[in-house]
Amino acid sequence: MIAMNKYFHSNYEESRETFRNLLTRVQNKWPNAELYQKAIGDSEDNTIDVIYAEAATSNDKVVFFTSGEHGIEGYAGAAVIQLFVEDYMESIDPSTTGICLIHGINPWGMKHFRRVTENNVDLNRNYFLEKQDIPMDINRNYEKESQIFLPTKPVEEIGKEKTKLYEALSKGMMNEGYKGIKKAKGMGQFEFERGVYFGGFEEEPSSTYIKSWQRQLLDNFSTVIHMDWHTALGPTNEVTMVVSEKIGESEEGLKDTYGWENIQVFSPDTVKGDSTNHFYELREDEYPTKRLFSALFEFGTFGTSREAELREFTTIILENQLYWEGTEYPESREWIQEELMNMFYPQDEEWKEAVLKEAGVAIKSVLGKEKIV
Ligand SMILES: [Zn+2]
Repeated sequence: MIAMNKYFHSNYEESRETFRNLLTRVQNKWPNAELYQKAIGDSEDNTIDVIYAEAATSNDKVVFFTSGEHGIEGYAGAAVIQLFVEDYMESIDPSTTGICLIHGINPWGMKHFRRVTENNVDLNRNYFLEKQDIPMDINRNYEKESQIFLPTKPVEEIGKEKTKLYEALSKGMMNEGYKGIKKAKGMGQFEFERGVYFGGFEEEPSSTYIKSWQRQLLDNFSTVIHMDWHTALGPTNEVTMVVSEKIGESEEGLKDTYGWENIQVFSPDTVKGDSTNHFYELREDEYPTKRLFSALFEFGTFGTSREAELREFTTIILENQLYWEGTEYPESREWIQEELMNMFYPQDEEWKEAVLKEAGVAIKSVLGKEKIV
């Protein structure tokens, strides 16, 4: 059995240190590889770390892995990057293929075990081509039922709080409130900075930085293959590929191409400000001759049942309330923090083993199709 703590770290600093130490190994293959560090925010030592190398003779393709767009989800992403460097990188041809690995896109969120940034922004709702593209009145349902989603008072005794929320949500399953939060999950909301699924009033520094890498890779390489690692969505202990319809292939077609079932295609009409979608738009507008594959890969935790969905919303809403309003009940704090870990970074060995195994399947499938590994 593999020791899981070699891959899955318990704090941001350790995870980052392990990533930085991968540089030597990458340099064995790409002697010109370098480590770049971009400070995000100014109150703490938080950085986005990038290992990057161009191909030795011809920049035909680049493998681009990103992690930690949703803070806490970055621990699994970092594990996958380490696995890739140790087990899969060896078979790549460095003369025609470059590499770009990114650790901790939202370093503050990773350090503080939150999904969002220090500005409460869900980064994957924050990528727009132009600032004026940020939709202001996108989600009327959310606004109508905002008392469910906006924290106004401290978290009470957890049992009471959960019952209240479960009732509000399940009663609301057929009405505006539930539709509102379901829609907000995809569309984001751009009005309430203390609410869940906030996409931001302006571009986050992390988004600006990642956009510059998207541009640099499209500039330098003929083909860009991007795998963005996340957690929570999809069947428990399995990986799900989530891709913008801009990929130009149907869900059924993709299932055939890659030989797996867990593939979801989303439309930019229902998901706003997604980073992979931004990548496709940039390619379309400015690099029409370049080839891009960009998708999210999600390691499922709660599963896909209606019960799992309720549990997910409960966790997200209470965690946000706890962050802004606190609680006088230690058990409430404990329960919420534990449930957040269960959702985005489960501590059981079975899940961690599944992440590594499923990541291997996804890497072999996607990079194998490109004849990279
Ligand atoms: Zn995510």
